[in-house]
Amino acid sequence: MTTTQTLTALATAIASEEIKVVDLSGTLGPDTPLIKLPPEVAINTPQVEIHEISKYDDNGPFWSWNWLKLGEHSGTHFDAPIHWISGRDYADGSTDTIPPQNFIAPACVIDCSAEAQADSDYLLTADRVREWEADHGEIPARSWVLMRTDWYKRGHSEELFLNADENGSHAPGPATDCIQYLLEKDILGWGSEAVGTDAGQGFGLEPPLPAHHLMHEANKYGLASLCNLDQLPATGSVIITPPLKILNGTGSPIRVLALISAS
Ligand code: MN
Repeated sequence: MTTTQTLTALATAIASEEIKVVDLSGTLGPDTPLIKLPPEVAINTPQVEIHEISKYDDNGPFWSWNWLKLGEHSGTHFDAPIHWISGRDYADGSTDTIPPQNFIAPACVIDCSAEAQADSDYLLTADRVREWEADHGEIPARSWVLMRTDWYKRGHSEELFLNADENGSHAPGPATDCIQYLLEKDILGWGSEAVGTDAGQGFGLEPPLPAHHLMHEANKYGLASLCNLDQLPATGSVIITPPLKILNGTGSPIRVLALISAS
C-alpha cells in the first residue's frame, strides 16, 4: 500500500466506523472543576466564563457568538514543557512551537480503576508498569501513557473531583519511579483523568510533582482531566492532541480524540 493509499484507507475506515473515534474530553464551561492551589502558595486560575456577544438579536441579528475567559490549564488540557521551571528553556516547548507531528501518537492505557477506587491517593509505581508490560508488551518509545482511574466519572462536582480536605486534594497519580521508568522508555507524554497530571498529594513526592517536573524537564508533554479512558484498549489506539496555538502558551484546553479499532 502506498502512503497515499494508507491515508485514503484511514479516512474510509473512519467514515465506515471500522475505526471508531472516542472523545477523551470533558465539556468546558463555568462548572468545570479547576485545580485549587493553597492560596498562601500561589494564585489560582480563574473559573471558565462564557460571555455572549450576540444571539441572533440586536447585538448581531443573524449570528450567535461568545467570548471566553479561560485559563490555559482548564478542563481537559495539554501541558507544554515550558509550563514547568524545569522545561522553561526549550525553544520547541510552548504550544506554538511544539512540532505538530507530536500531536498524533499511539497510547498505552494502564487500568488503575480498581486501585483508585480503593485508595484516592493511589500512586502508580514503576513495578506496576512492569507488570502491565508483562501482560501487554513493552511500552514503545514516542507513545502516550495514560492512567485510567475512572476519575472522570466524578463529573463536574468539585467536591468529588478535587476530593479535598484540610491537607489538599486526594486524587491518584504517578509515583516518582513510574515517571522515571517511563522516561527511560522515551515516551512522548503522560496523561491522567485527575485535575492535573500529578497526584493530589504529589507536592509531597521527591521531586515535588514528578509528572510535571521530570516530564517537562525532558521536553515531554502532559494531558489532564481526560475522560472515557475506560473505552480504550490497553494498546493499539492512536490519540490526537493538538493544543491551541497560543503564543508562548504553557498549555491549552484541548479536544482529545482517540482512534480505536471497532472490531
Ligand atoms: Mn496543566
